[in-house]
Amino acid sequence: MASRVIPVDPFDLVIFGGTGDLARRKILPGLFRRYCAGQMPAEARIIGAARSDMSNTEYRRLIGEALEEFGAADGKNQKDVTEFLQRIEYIAIDAMGKSGWKALAKALRKNVVHAFNFSVGPALFGPLAERLHENGIADTQSRIVVEKPFGHDLASAKELNATLAQYFDERQIYRIDHYLGKETVQNLMAVRFGNILFEPLWNAQYIDHVQITVAETVGVGGRGEYYDKSGAMRDMVQNHLMQLLCLTAMEPPAKFDPNAVRDEKLKVIRALRPVANGDLVRGQYSAGSDTPSYAEEAENPSSTTESFIAMKIDIENWRWNGTPFYLRTGKRMRARLSEIVVRFKEPPHSIFDEDAGSNANELTIRLQPNEGMDMMVTIKEPGPGGMRLVQVPLDMTFADVLGSDGSDVPDAYERLIMDVIRGNQTLFMRGDEVEAAWAWTDPIIEGWESRGDKPNLYEPGTAGPEEALMLMHKDGRRWRDLKP
Ligand code: NAD
Repeated sequence: MASRVIPVDPFDLVIFGGTGDLARRKILPGLFRRYCAGQMPAEARIIGAARSDMSNTEYRRLIGEALEEFGAADGKNQKDVTEFLQRIEYIAIDAMGKSGWKALAKALRKNVVHAFNFSVGPALFGPLAERLHENGIADTQSRIVVEKPFGHDLASAKELNATLAQYFDERQIYRIDHYLGKETVQNLMAVRFGNILFEPLWNAQYIDHVQITVAETVGVGGRGEYYDKSGAMRDMVQNHLMQLLCLTAMEPPAKFDPNAVRDEKLKVIRALRPVANGDLVRGQYSAGSDTPSYAEEAENPSSTTESFIAMKIDIENWRWNGTPFYLRTGKRMRARLSEIVVRFKEPPHSIFDEDAGSNANELTIRLQPNEGMDMMVTIKEPGPGGMRLVQVPLDMTFADVLGSDGSDVPDAYERLIMDVIRGNQTLFMRGDEVEAAWAWTDPIIEGWESRGDKPNLYEPGTAGPEEALMLMHKDGRRWRDLKP
């Protein structure tokens, strides 16, 4: 089933940090794929901006190399590459200084969508917003796209929101959480609200618990210095896992409209009970046979930063009272996997013999690898062996179901940037959501900092520290296996 492609309006997209890792690895390859898919109109233009002096030709060469390095160009689509690169220009601009702004103002066309992507460190978000405004470059229709991290705590997030609000309305600010751009995450909403089947069961009466796992096999690598000041709670839970929890737990919005969806997510965050100390496990990976320990990679022998965190979260509202959400995320784990598992309760009464087997349904929403969903349902074991029950998956791997090899399922960044041009904020975080998430996160971090808690060490290539398994065992539950 080929996906329908509707071209977006003509645009000028300025990528500040256009020579950086994110721009080269994700944003420009993503735009190139949208170009190949026919979604970028002929009048679309991309302007890379960064500090270094560079000609258009040099910048196009840099981006051409990035398209190859990050798998967007494969040698067979050279004509597309050449045409795409013709749409790209470069302007040297210092985000903190005065140079380059006049050239940018001159380069932008009238009567096309103007979007400014802040693919730079967070310290530059405010100065960029200010200079776009001061130089008369941004108007009331312009959009700005802000990368993570959005603040380090509640105070800094509030400050950043206040700075941006001096120059832009909330409807112009697109805060990226790339998890929201994943096909499966949107499908979670389609499945929940587009079927009569799930929603009546989507509550504490029928759901035993929910597990959200985001596991990585890599360590902190070259990001050690940044990560050591952040840790898994700030880097992953406050944003990505929180967004997944919200979409799973929220009430049905009145319509699929940016503010209606974001209002419902916000209500969930505000209903989160503070996490008790005993419902939280922090971990840090030790050295493996051929991999360094976290402390070595972060170059901080006495680091108490967590590279793993697991927690049990209660949502204080009618729908979820008594149904916990268990979250875990970590680095150097056994598998690279992101999934939401909704574990239903067992039927209230079994008509089968005790040895027929257990029969609780489980819905798994996989974000990676192989985006898709599967639902474990109970059937009779085939054959003449009597009434024995087995669980089989109703598998909806998107690449299989949609009849493709998965390559035409847009990457999260592709979708999100096209949404910016379309002016659709549904999949972006609103300022109050981000602040509410920090308001919930801060006391948890302050708690372990004031107690001087140290993370539990765990071996690389495992499911995290033993204590994380106990977090569920003590409730008579278990994490789904982390299968590589
Ligand atoms: P990077 O260090 O690779 O690139 C930074 C870019 O900013 C470069 O192009 C640099 O020239 C430019 N820059 C620096 N100072 C400047 C100035 N004064 N004026 C103009 N340009 C300046 O960083 P990155 O990894 O591309 O990350 C960019 C942003 O995206 C950061 O906020 C980061 O947290 C976020 N982010 C990155 C990733 C990723 O995978 N790289 C993922 C999620 C979020």
